[in-house]
Amino acid sequence: THFGFKNVPENMKETLVRQVFANVATKYDVMNDVMSGGVHRLWKDHFMRTLAPTPGTKLLDVAGGTGDIAMRFLDYCKETHGDGTAQVTVFDINPNMLEVGKERFSKTPYHNTSQVSFMEGNAENLEHIPDNSMDAYTIAFGIRNCTHVDRVLKEAYRVLKPGGRFMCLEFSKVENPVISKVYDVFSFEVIPTMGHIVANDRDSYKYLVESIRKFPPQKQFAKMIKDAGFTVMGQGYEDLTFGVAAIHSGFKL
Ligand code: SAM
Repeated sequence: THFGFKNVPENMKETLVRQVFANVATKYDVMNDVMSGGVHRLWKDHFMRTLAPTPGTKLLDVAGGTGDIAMRFLDYCKETHGDGTAQVTVFDINPNMLEVGKERFSKTPYHNTSQVSFMEGNAENLEHIPDNSMDAYTIAFGIRNCTHVDRVLKEAYRVLKPGGRFMCLEFSKVENPVISKVYDVFSFEVIPTMGHIVANDRDSYKYLVESIRKFPPQKQFAKMIKDAGFTVMGQGYEDLTFGVAAIHSGFKL
């Protein structure tokens, strides 16, 4: 099959996204390291330092997948504050990804504690999560997979407490023309080929690259965050590695 995403009707997107992540779930973590040369770890560490959670923070990590952000969050709270009261819910549409996450947590001291829980669902409809109930909402490399980004942002706003923070880590747009050329070759040729060799799945990785290109650039996404009601500081985002990724942030005030 060919996930030529431009040709896919909108109502098929959710089904395709499910399929892609079901295919890659077990190889997901190792592929992230292979594809990014480990750089995604640095971005995620920086993301957590930027969030800088305080003791007792209640976090909803949407599109949480295999729990990378959740694990960093609990480790940060433990290492920085000696805190064992922070709580995270890993929320994802894909049960295969959540299974890999549960398995990972089962080997940590957080297993079977109230510090971590898992919930299956769509980011566009957080129906089981009450209004004004979360201190922080994170979504890392997930929002570009969602069909209606405006609905995702609206739900994020609803579930956050007043004063709560929305933070998104996502691939973004490289502006520098030289770096952009190199990045194009890497994206359109190297990534699908590596996907083929390492995971025997060229199409899923082709889809990932296409979904990155279709996502709105930094300023446009910052505007969508403001339109959802969030207050942003400065321009509302920070570029990472020339804009290959960016952190967007907003407060519900
Ligand atoms: N946050 C993790 C990380 O940074 O490693 C996982 C990112 S992974 C690239 C994207 C995740 O988004 C997948 O686990 C996928 O199942 C999930 N996802 C895609 N569409 C979603 C939706 N509409 N609602 C919730 N999760 C979704």
